[in-house]
Amino acid sequence: MKRKGILTVVSGFSGSGKGTIMKQLLTEHADTYALSISATTRAPRPGERNGREYFFVSQEEFEEMIRQKKLIEYARYVDNYYGTPRDYVFQQLDQGRDVILEIEIQGALKVKEAYPDTLLLFVSPPDAEELKRRLVNRGTEEEAVIASRLSRAWQEAQGVENYDYFVINDDLKECVQEVHSIIKNEHARAARNQALIENIRAELKSFAKGE
Ligand code: 5GP
Repeated sequence: MKRKGILTVVSGFSGSGKGTIMKQLLTEHADTYALSISATTRAPRPGERNGREYFFVSQEEFEEMIRQKKLIEYARYVDNYYGTPRDYVFQQLDQGRDVILEIEIQGALKVKEAYPDTLLLFVSPPDAEELKRRLVNRGTEEEAVIASRLSRAWQEAQGVENYDYFVINDDLKECVQEVHSIIKNEHARAARNQALIENIRAELKSFAKGE
């Protein structure tokens, strides 16, 4: 029986290192995972490429995607739109890949509401000082943007209890391993294996009848 992929949402404060974790996870397990590429109206950062980190679109294009229901969810984050294109996610899940959405909390909760078997993971740095240090060291954002990201992080911290798992990113390697184990274990949940269980039951029934 073909296993269906699990839809996993990974969130974390800007600067939590979740992007790096996801890249590493995909490098180590390229056949297992697929990373959804979001559309956004924010400008590319140096080194970012259209279609790799994001699909960079205009506000008009984004609003057209909303109208045509091409997005599973979308949210505004620090003055820009971000959204998850629908088709890719469902194609990959059907092919048995675990699909990862790296999105912020409003979007995560919308996905969970629409698809209750979504797994929600939250990645955090060990402490707030470290978060600030990482944002400043990244050097790609101006001071005002860093300040609004930190204030947004404070807001997001209020909603963390809604997630299924909370993972601390102190050591990258360990964190990647932990995220991989969580998703792997999730496949073993009885509730996610209903079809298999039914199948075995039906076979046992026919044995019991001596067929
Ligand atoms: P950044 O501008 O740093 O790349 O992303 C800002 C925030 O937007 C991050 O928390 C990121 O996870 C979130 N984000 C990226 N793509 C999406 C998306 O498709 N939907 C939602 N709701 N948030 C997203």
